[in-house]
Amino acid sequence: MRTVVCVSMLEHLNKEIGKRKAMDAEILDQDIKAKGLKVTIPRMKVLAVLSAEKDAPHLSAEEVYNRLLAMGEEVSLPTVYRVLAQFESAGLVKRHCFDGDRAVYEIDDGEAHNHMVCVCCSEVIEFVDSVIADKLQRLAAYQGFTISDYNLVLHGVCAQCK
Ligand SMILES: [Zn+2]
Ligand SMILES: [Zn+2]
Repeated sequence: MRTVVCVSMLEHLNKEIGKRKAMDAEILDQDIKAKGLKVTIPRMKVLAVLSAEKDAPHLSAEEVYNRLLAMGEEVSLPTVYRVLAQFESAGLVKRHCFDGDRAVYEIDDGEAHNHMVCVCCSEVIEFVDSVIADKLQRLAAYQGFTISDYNLVLHGVCAQCK
C-alpha cells in the first residue's frame, strides 16, 4: 500500500505546527506553571530553545545544551538532562528515539503527529494525515482496542540527501 501525502498540505500543516510552537516568554512561563512545575531560569531557557520556531524542534539534550552555550547561557549539561526529564514526566515535552539510542525531545502540544526521519542527515519532517488516523482508529476498534497515543515513524531519505 502506498500513501500519497500532498506536499503543499504538508507544508501548510508544518507551518501551523511551527506557529503553535513559537511561543513568547509569557506563554512559556504559563506552560511551565500549568504543568505544576516551578518556573526556574534553566526551565525557561530549555523550553525557549525547544520552542524556537525556525529550527528543527526535535533536539537531543546535547543539542539543547549546545544552543544554550551558543546563546551565552550558563546551564550545565546535567541540568539540561534533568530539566528535560522533568518536562517529560510533566507532559510538557515528548521524547522520541528515532534512531535507536539517541533521544530527541519536542514540545508536546497535545496534537498527534507523525514523523519522517532521514537516515542520512537525521532531518525530521512532521506530518499529519486524517486518512491514516481514521484507518488506525478503525483497525484498533476492530480489535476492541482503544488508542491512547501513537506515533508513526517513517525511515528513509529526505529530498536534500537524494
Ligand atoms: Zn537527509
Ligand atoms: Zn514532532
